[in-house]
Amino acid sequence: MKGQRLRLVYNPYAGRRKLTVQLDTVIRIFQESGNEVCVHRACSTEDMEQIASQSKDVDRFVIAGGDGSIHQAVNGLIKIPENQRPALGILPVGTANDLAYALHLPKSIPEACKVIAKGNILRMDTGQVNERYFVNVASAGLLTDVSQKVDTRVKNTLGQLAYILKGIETLPSFRPFHIEFEKDGVRSKEEVVLFLAVNGHSVGGLRQLVPKASLTDGKLQIIIVPAAGWPETIRLLLNVLRRERVDASKIKEFQTSELIIHTDRPIKSDLDGEYGPESSWHITIGPKISVLC
Ligand SMILES: [Mg+2]
Repeated sequence: MKGQRLRLVYNPYAGRRKLTVQLDTVIRIFQESGNEVCVHRACSTEDMEQIASQSKDVDRFVIAGGDGSIHQAVNGLIKIPENQRPALGILPVGTANDLAYALHLPKSIPEACKVIAKGNILRMDTGQVNERYFVNVASAGLLTDVSQKVDTRVKNTLGQLAYILKGIETLPSFRPFHIEFEKDGVRSKEEVVLFLAVNGHSVGGLRQLVPKASLTDGKLQIIIVPAAGWPETIRLLLNVLRRERVDASKIKEFQTSELIIHTDRPIKSDLDGEYGPESSWHITIGPKISVLC
């Protein structure tokens, strides 16, 4: 096999510095499997996106980080023309690792290195909201900006609990919003507390939250939780979290490859736990990217 050029980019603070202590092992496994390795230590998430966008000189772009780092890397990689775009490798060292879970990647760093070294490619869908891309989930409303508000150090120490505590803290100040969209020629209006467009099947560390979602079907799974007064709203949210669809008439769920959503006031979106565009949103399936898995 001809030697592959591989760029390893890591966020030194992700996941309790899980990668930094294994860096030598990682480089050894990649090198011994015939990769010519270059390493980049990312100083910020913007740095991650920029280095990805300039990586047409390598065959494999390996990111060691969580869903946020992968999100930035994918937004950078998509700027490279498809025939020059390197394949994406993932070493899951973040807190939630929703995408790594959906791809069935091993949790152990050396095992994940071996998967990348093997070189099997999956052509994975991305989702797109206006000018930005996402790999796992686009969302708006209740609990969706929690990840952005939780400090990295707190995330590392408390893990999932940090999200839940921050989520509870944001509840009292939350206001539902109105959305308007068209599906199959029918216009719908809805007052909502939560809107999700899902590509992978786990969200915010909740495994198999959306089991019907597939990373390769060219569709996004849309889930809309309407506002229904607080006790009912909390009940509906719990149904979603417990993966129950007891009241299918209240929670809307459908598949689509394109959806335009208008809101009654500017609403922030969240893409893979990072800030996304404000509404209105043009949501579509984006380009496919090659993932080593
Ligand atoms: Mg899909």
